[in-house]
Amino acid sequence: MLVSEQKPLEEILHSLDGDGTVFLLGCRGCAEASHTGGEQEVRTMKANLEEAGKIVSGWTALDFLCQKALVKTGLQAFRDQILASDSLLVMCCGVGVQATAAVVDKVVHPGCNTLSMGGAQGEWRGSERCAECGACLLDYTGGICPITACTKSLINGPCGGARDGRCEHQPDVRPCGWQQIYERLKKLDHLDKLREIHTPQDYAKAEPPKALRSTTFWALEHVEE
Ligand code: SF4
Ligand code: SF4
Repeated sequence: MLVSEQKPLEEILHSLDGDGTVFLLGCRGCAEASHTGGEQEVRTMKANLEEAGKIVSGWTALDFLCQKALVKTGLQAFRDQILASDSLLVMCCGVGVQATAAVVDKVVHPGCNTLSMGGAQGEWRGSERCAECGACLLDYTGGICPITACTKSLINGPCGGARDGRCEHQPDVRPCGWQQIYERLKKLDHLDKLREIHTPQDYAKAEPPKALRSTTFWALEHVEE
């Protein structure tokens, strides 16, 4: 189980700057349990965005956004609304945002930060990985996580070691995460995102917050098998 918290509305509106029409997507898995992306939170976000002058083309909350096939199938019914949108705001953990970005040809914005549970994963184990960094950067990277896709977890572009799209560390098996980010942003016509320079991540957030250790989430995730 991945636990998330909503990003501040101000940060969400900043990420949506320039996007007049937005499709909202929530998750009936961990995000609903976290009260960050269930139906109720998506409805509230819709009202907030409309008050801020955005057009919400449509919304839904699907089961388990961490599973790409479920996301792709679930969004079929909303094809026209999504096509009419500038972007999607996805209210769930980093895995679900990445899985959504992988199946739609639209800009995808994360509505949440994923909190550290000490190494948890999504309910469905796909190829997308979230390191629970507590300050999601997927808005700037085309929905590909720089912390997990890049061997060195670089957040401001590639190192000098990439060759032919492969990572300098184990080039036979590892693509360069930043090459993948570049290709995704180019496809979305958003290479401008690469101009944003990020201050260093606060890696204290990689430690599980004390308050989480006494919750049902923690007990369920760390139960002895
Ligand atoms: S940037 Fe990566 S590690 Fe951080 S919350 Fe987003 S998906 Fe997870
Ligand atoms: S080659 Fe690419 S993936 Fe590997 S460490 Fe450098 S930037 Fe990261």
